Amino acid sequence: MAERCIIIGASHAGAHLAACLRMSGWKGDIQLIGSEPYLPYHRPPLSKTALNVAVSDPQWLRPAAFYEKNNIEVLLNTEVTHIDRANREVQLANGDSLAYDKLAFCTGARVRKLRIPGADLNGIYYLRDWQDALNIRQAISTAKKAVLIGGGYIGLELAASLRKKGLDVTVLEMTERVLQRVTAPEVSIFFSRVHHEEGVEIVCNKVASEFLGDGAVGKVRCSDGSEFDADLVIVGIGVIPNTELAQSAGLSVDDGIVVNEFAQTEDPDIVAAGDCTNHPNAMLNTRLRLESVPNAMEQAKTAALSVCGKPQAYAAHPWFWSDQYDMKLQIAGWNQDYDQVVLRGDYQHGRSFVAWYLKQGKLIAADCINRPKEFMVAKQLLAKGLAVDAHHVADDSLDPRSLLNS
Ligand code: FAD
Repeated sequence: MAERCIIIGASHAGAHLAACLRMSGWKGDIQLIGSEPYLPYHRPPLSKTALNVAVSDPQWLRPAAFYEKNNIEVLLNTEVTHIDRANREVQLANGDSLAYDKLAFCTGARVRKLRIPGADLNGIYYLRDWQDALNIRQAISTAKKAVLIGGGYIGLELAASLRKKGLDVTVLEMTERVLQRVTAPEVSIFFSRVHHEEGVEIVCNKVASEFLGDGAVGKVRCSDGSEFDADLVIVGIGVIPNTELAQSAGLSVDDGIVVNEFAQTEDPDIVAAGDCTNHPNAMLNTRLRLESVPNAMEQAKTAALSVCGKPQAYAAHPWFWSDQYDMKLQIAGWNQDYDQVVLRGDYQHGRSFVAWYLKQGKLIAADCINRPKEFMVAKQLLAKGLAVDAHHVADDSLDPRSLLNS
C-alpha cells in the first residue's frame, strides 16, 4: 500500500510542503488539511489589497488545478483535534480518523488577543485570515476614526491602507517607538516621520487598558488615563504559535514546536515547518521562531526532503518585507545583538535609505527601504559572511554592487 503523508495546516508552509513532496519524489498519498474554508492563499495582501472591495477572492498560492494535477487531496474546513502517535492516526473535529505514515505540522500562529475591559464591544478587530480582512473591509466602509493598537508591521501596514481610504488613523504603541522589537531607532524614526507626513497620528508609550462604548467601541482608554476616540479599532499585538496539538501529542514545545535542522521533531515520522516551529539556524548560531513567508517556504522544503528520506539541513539567512504607501522595506538577516548601525542615505528626509547592522565589523542584517539593489547585495554579503568597511557601505555615491568588494 502507498504511504500517506498528512499535512496539518493549509497555508504558506503546508501548501509548499505538499508541492515540495512531489518535487522531491514522494509517490505516496498526500492529504493537506486546513481549518479555513479556502484553498491556501497569500496572507501579506490581507493588510493591503484585500481591503479593496474590488478584490473578490484571496490571492491563491496555487490554482486549484495544481492540487488535482499533483494528486494532493485538500481537505478544507477541517480541523485536526487530536494526534494518536501510537496508532499513527489524526482525529478530526467531525469525528473521523485518518491514518498517516508521515505527519507534518504547519499549524502556523493565531493572533494574540487583548483581554481588557470592553474587549467584547463591537467594532474591535484582529487580522490574520481572509475572513478577518473581509470583516475589516466592511467596517472601514462606514468608519471614520480608526485606532490601531500596536506599532509593529501589521499596525503600520494597516495604518497606511486605512489612511489611503481617507480614515483618520491613530496608532497607539506601548513602547517608546514603533517597530522597537525589530529595528534600530533610526528606522523607527523614519517610519514615524513618513506616517506623520501621510496624516497618521502615532502615539508611543501608550498602553491600552480599556475599551469604552455602548454596544460598539467609542473610545480607547490608556493606562495613563488618556482617551482616544474610535469607531473602529484593530489590534495588532503579535501572534501565538499553534502548538497545543503537538504538545498534547507529547512533542517538545518551547515557543514553537521544537525541531532540528532537518525540520524533524523527536518523532522520526513527524516534521514541522513555518510560524509554528522553534528551529536552529546554523548561519545565526541560535534557535529561533520566525514569522515570515520566506521561512515558511524554506522550512517546508527542508521538511519535505526529510519526509522523503533525503535530509538536508536548513541553512538560510532570514529575510522579510513590508509594504507601506510607496515604500518597500526589505530586510535581510537577523539584527539580534548588533553593536553598530551604519546608515546609507538620509533617513530624516525622503523615502529611501539603508540601515546596515554590524556585529564586530561583520554584517548581520540590513533594512533596505526602496533600495532593491542594496537588498540583493546585503543577501550576498550575508551569504559570504564577510566583514564590511563601514565607510564604504555608508557612501551613497558608490554603486551598490561595489560593496561586494568592500
Ligand atoms: P499560517 O499562515 O498561520 O497557516 C497555518 C494554517 O494552519 C492556518 O490556515 C490555520 O487555520 C491552520 N491550522 C492551524 N491549526 C489547525 C488544525 N488543528 N487543523 C487544521 N488546520 C489548522 N510575512 C512576510 O514574510 N512578509 C509580509 O509582508 C507579511 N505580511 C503579513 C501581513 C498580514 C496581514 C499577516 C496576517 C501576515 C503577514 N506575514 C508576512 C506573515 C506570514 O503571513 C506568515 O509568516 C505565514 O503565513 C506563515 O505561514 P504558515 O503556513 O507557517 O502559518
